[in-house]
Parts: sequence; structure tokens; C-alpha cells
Amino acid sequence: MSSAENLDQSSKSKAAPPEVRTSKAVVEAGGLLHRELRDGAFWTQIPAFAHVSEEEFLDYKWQMKSSLYGEDKLIELISAVAPAEFIEDCRQGFRRAPMAVRVTPYLLSLIDWNDPWNDPIRTQFIPLASRLTQDHPMLTLDSLHEQADAPVEGLTHRYADKALFLPLDTCPVYCRFCTRSYAIGIDTDVVEKVSLKVNPKRWEEAFDYIATRPELEDIVISGGDAYNLAAKHIEAIGERLLRMPNIRRIRFATKGLAVMPMKILTDQAWLDALTRVEKLGRELRKQVVIHTHFNHPNEITAISKRALDVLFERGIIVRNQSVLQRGVNDSAKIMQLLVKRLGEVNVQPYYVYQHDMVQGVEDLRTSVQTSIDIEKNVRGTTAGFNTPTFVVDAPGGGGKRDAHSYEYYNRESGISVYAAPSVKPGQYFMYYDPLHSLSDAAREDWKVEAKRDQMRAEALEGAKQYGGLR
Ligand SMILES: *Cc1c(COP(=O)(O)O)cnc(C)c1O
Ligand code: SF4
Repeated sequence: MSSAENLDQSSKSKAAPPEVRTSKAVVEAGGLLHRELRDGAFWTQIPAFAHVSEEEFLDYKWQMKSSLYGEDKLIELISAVAPAEFIEDCRQGFRRAPMAVRVTPYLLSLIDWNDPWNDPIRTQFIPLASRLTQDHPMLTLDSLHEQADAPVEGLTHRYADKALFLPLDTCPVYCRFCTRSYAIGIDTDVVEKVSLKVNPKRWEEAFDYIATRPELEDIVISGGDAYNLAAKHIEAIGERLLRMPNIRRIRFATKGLAVMPMKILTDQAWLDALTRVEKLGRELRKQVVIHTHFNHPNEITAISKRALDVLFERGIIVRNQSVLQRGVNDSAKIMQLLVKRLGEVNVQPYYVYQHDMVQGVEDLRTSVQTSIDIEKNVRGTTAGFNTPTFVVDAPGGGGKRDAHSYEYYNRESGISVYAAPSVKPGQYFMYYDPLHSLSDAAREDWKVEAKRDQMRAEALEGAKQYGGLR
């Protein structure tokens, strides 16, 4: 109510009833899909898992042991469920992919093998030659300059008060689209990786640096994936950081909850170590939370809910960071369902990232416009605190920017320009929409080096002239 109305009403003894009362229509059929979590022995649809009991399927050790590492095993397994044409497409895809393949039986069981080409989980983990498309000419291996901003190996200090600590370089799965394909996973035919092994001695260098920077308050423990840290390392890293007077907040980043929720149900040692760290944080009045990474509503099942309920009971807060991906979650409908389903299992949607410029996965990228359009449709769907911010992690180390906040955006060339005055003052950062989202004419222009320079100069000029940076 505006103050004008307020004044008006306070002078009357009773407000007149409105002439028409509208009531919101009752939700339509299918409008509460977010509450319908997949349950039952869904894994038995895959012949190799047909005789796996629930107890075994929920055993994280079985999941790890049976995680398909490498193409031969994977192909053997899916040959029983997928069309022959699809298998050949995979074989060719593996040969050209920058990431090695690793996926859990849990995820494989969630894929719709009647239509593996269009399945959102297949799309994220299994490369297909038929979907590969040309890399953008402006794409580089470590587009976020995580290594350039690293004062010691495995510690990226880009923002004033927070830093990214990479204690290891392995994950329970390997995502095709990983931003850290420069380091994560084993070497492939296409990429030779930087090595960030589990190494408490290397960690000490990072801790020493953190301890000597009083402005650092917030450490993201990522990787790699905290799921792959031993319980004793979770505790050692957590305690070491929490005991530093400057540190106020730490977050363990893990995709594990999305790809192997069983670990929370059956790896008591790991869960207890995490719980002790969180409890120590509480005693010291410091925040210890988990950041996880669900991308599609199909990844949230009744098993996920059981795991997330355990964390909730223990008071451990979980937030989610998704990556916007073409053919996975690049529609308002899917993103709304994801956001609502995350709320259903007490996970707070935090970010939706514009897909980084990563080698060999151009098929997954979308334009910035797609992100902006989806954001408009998602905001208003549910509680504001459960509404993610859509961000672009500006290539070149500008950090995360609200996708809407570009200084300039030319939808024809696909160049958006961002500024980050609190991170790298005075600099401009450019993100390039994937070639497949552009017009034929623009695609032709990107082939010619002189035209490229021209388009980039035009965008920079536009940002300086029309942008909000003063
Ligand atoms: C994302 C990120 C952080 C954490 O940023 P938030 O916006 O607080 O989530 C810290 N350091 C680096 C290098 C990052 O990429
Ligand atoms: S889990 Fe995260 S760090 Fe690991 S491969 Fe996937 S995106 Fe990369």
C-alpha cells in the first residue's frame, strides 16, 4: 500500500469492500510435479543392475566401485539398453571429448534409454559425435583465468574477501562441461591436465597464504569434489580453516548429492566428519555449508530426499549452483520445476551459471539472452530466497556478474560486455554467445579475423558509450 492510500484510509472508519474479489485459480493438473519424486527400484531397467538389491544400490561403496570409468565398460553396459546407432555415436564422441567419462550407476539408471539422444542426464555426461559443434574462435582452455589468479597452486584469490581452494582434482563423476577441464580428470586425447593431487603439504602453502591475508573471510573448498576427500581430510581442512581468526565462512562444494546421494546415507564416517566440522563452526559462530550442483529436476529422486533430510536434521545448510545448458535446462518450464523441486528437498537455489566457454562442448552453451529470458520467468515462481541469481562468470577473470547487468550486448554478434568495478576496476570483460545461436551472416563474420576484431571493437566502444560504468 502506498503512503498516499494509507493516509486516505486512515481517515475513514472502515474501508469499503472491493467490488470484485478475484481468487487465484487452483493449480492445474501437473502443476505440483515438483513433489513427485522418482521412487522404487528404477535401476533394475538396466540388465546389468537388474539383480542389484536396494541395500546394495544404496551402498556408496558399491556405487563407487561400479562407477563406469572409461568408455569400454560404459559401452558394454549400455549396449543392452540403447540402440546400436546410439552406441556408435558414443564411440565417436569419446574420441573427440576433452573430458574422460565417469558416471555412477545411479545416474545411468535415471537416463531414459528409450530416447538417450534427448535425455538431459545423458547430455551432461556422455558425449555424442553427432552433437559436437565448432568451438567459438574466442574460446581458451582456462577461460576463467583461475590459474592466472592463483597466488599459490590450487588457490584462486580473485575477490577481496573470498577465495577458491582446490585441494584435489578428482570427482565422483566427470561432467562433460566442466570449467576445470584444464585440471579435472585423467588426460584425454585432447587435453593434458594440470595436476592438483591430494597433498597435505601443498595444502599447507594455501593455508599459510590464507592466514596471512586478513581480508579473506570466506573459503570455497572445491576441486575436484569434496565428496572424494577422505573423512579425515574433511575434518583437517575444515578445522584448520575455522581456527583461523580471519575466516568466518567455509563451503564444501560437491556435486556428490546430485550424482551419488547414497554416500550421505551409508558413509557414516564422512557424514560424521562433516557434521563435526559444522558443529565446530557453530561453536565458533562461523558458517559451514554445502554447495551442490543439480542441473535438472530428474536428478532429484526419493533417494536424494532421504539424503537431504539427513543433512537437514543435522542442521547442515545446502545451496545449489546450476549450469544453464542447452537441451538440459534451457527452458523456463524445466528451470521452474528444478527450482521448486530444490525447495521441496530443502536445497536453496543460489546461482544459475551461464555456461562457461569450455573446449569441445559448444553444443551445451546458450546465448546470454536465453539466460535473461528464463530468469524473468523463474522470478515470481516461488520464495525470493529460493530464486537463483542468473550469472555470467566473466571470461578473463572478471568474476560472476548478474546476467542482466551487461554494459552492452549485441545480439547479432553475440558479444556481451561486463564490468566488475569491485573486482577488476576499469576493465571490461566479454562473453561470446555460441556460434549456433547466431545468424548465418554473423557466423560467417566470425570466420574472418579482421571482422572479429571489428565486432569486438564495436562492442567495447558500445560498452564505453552506453554502459553504466562511470
Ligand atoms: C565463485 C567463486 C567464489 C565464490 O563466489 P560467490 O559469488 O560468493 O559464490 C570465490 N572465488 C572464485 C575464484 C570463484 O570463482
Ligand atoms: S563435479 Fe564439478 S569439478 Fe567435477 S567434473 Fe563435474 S563440474 Fe567439474
